Amino acid sequence: MRCPSCGEDFDRLGLHWWHGTCPYPEIEPEIEEILTGLLMGDGSIPVRRSGYTSLIHVPMTNRTFLEWLDDRLGILSTGVSLKKTASELASNNRQTGFSPTAREENYHDMYTLWSRTHPIFDEMRETWYPDGGKRFPGRLELTPTVAKFWYLCDGYLDFGSWGRPRLGIKARNEKERGEFLESLFDTFDISPKYRRHELRFSCDDTELLIEWMGEAPPGFEYKWELDSKAEYQRLKKRAYEVHATQTLS
Ligand SMILES: [Zn+2]
Repeated sequence: MRCPSCGEDFDRLGLHWWHGTCPYPEIEPEIEEILTGLLMGDGSIPVRRSGYTSLIHVPMTNRTFLEWLDDRLGILSTGVSLKKTASELASNNRQTGFSPTAREENYHDMYTLWSRTHPIFDEMRETWYPDGGKRFPGRLELTPTVAKFWYLCDGYLDFGSWGRPRLGIKARNEKERGEFLESLFDTFDISPKYRRHELRFSCDDTELLIEWMGEAPPGFEYKWELDSKAEYQRLKKRAYEVHATQTLS
């Protein structure tokens, strides 16, 4: 991989930057927002080993999206790799008792994107993991991009039987802070309610929020389909057929 400053190739660019000959690449504001949204959802920054710089990893079944993200992060990403196969996930869940009757055909392969090490992840680790566990920072500011990447990780559409869909975002990790989560949307005249470990939006607010967040990234088109339940289900099915894989033993 080529260092953008000196133009030389290195196997481990993070280490090259760490040595200080060339600076760490600057993170553009939109990338920082994408990383923030992902950290609210599936992304996490593991404890760094002493002497090392931090990184983020994003595990997901949606390979199309992760490949798009890999491309968008550019030099900051080390690529997408298979983390656990469908068979391994089912077997894990049987063994731990999480789901004693787990069947592999109901699971999808889990992929992970690993970033390079960068000081921005040291800062984020400090801000987001004050006591070891992840906690949304009090000064968190939602932008359309932050909200979009949080939504695609933990959000869903519920069509129910009333026709127009309602949006929900699961936030079990923040279950003591419902009012704080609701307040994130105050400035946008969107008023979700936090109930049963998730934010629930009205039909009108769902439409406002989807429009405000902007276009769906590749792989998550179904979460943006408000017009028809049948179309939503078709796109969702396609997402699992096209954007996820199943390795069965
Ligand atoms: Zn260099």
